[in-house]
Amino acid sequence: MSGQTGVPDLLPTPPGGERRLVLHSCCAPCVGGIMESMAAAGLEPLVLFYNPNIHPAPEYLKRKDENARFAEKLGLPFVDADYDPKAWMDRVRGLEAEPERGARCTVCFDMRLAYTADYAHQHGYRVFTSSLGISRHKDMAQVNASATRAAARHPDLTYWDHNWRKNGGMDHMLTVSRREDFYRQDYCGCTFSKRAAERG
Ligand code: SF4
Repeated sequence: MSGQTGVPDLLPTPPGGERRLVLHSCCAPCVGGIMESMAAAGLEPLVLFYNPNIHPAPEYLKRKDENARFAEKLGLPFVDADYDPKAWMDRVRGLEAEPERGARCTVCFDMRLAYTADYAHQHGYRVFTSSLGISRHKDMAQVNASATRAAARHPDLTYWDHNWRKNGGMDHMLTVSRREDFYRQDYCGCTFSKRAAERG
């Protein structure tokens, strides 16, 4: 399902035929293939890195820098948003013991995608999307529900709910990640997911 370049052939037209859009990034391994597909399709994504969930700070910097490096390589704008882990911790208080894909993740997605929607609105974008749902570890319906709530904050804004795993997207994600030798973390991001990964 991919052309000679390895980029998936079938990238649908974004809502409203918009070429400019905000692409929320969770990390380089997830977003790299999407960035490359969009660039190949002639879209103009602004890559927004807003992930106050990531712990600890050196890990956050490592993931962010990896993503910024690839954006620079493709010539795409990259926005380094606020890193405010205290605000994130305040939001998930009481949900520490929740499993991955549970209520804590809903709050986490809501926070990151609401910020993305607000940023898009404030900067004149009409469409946003996210790499959050491409990982097989994520519940795409849960991500889409959070993004739909975020989009509802602004009547002129639409969430592009394309399934980035489809049409060769998942294979392309893995190909780009290996080719670019991205740093690949072994836990989702927060301190609770890190502890769960360490427990095995
Ligand atoms: S497991 Fe991942 S999605 Fe869930 S709360 Fe932690 S960082 Fe957020």
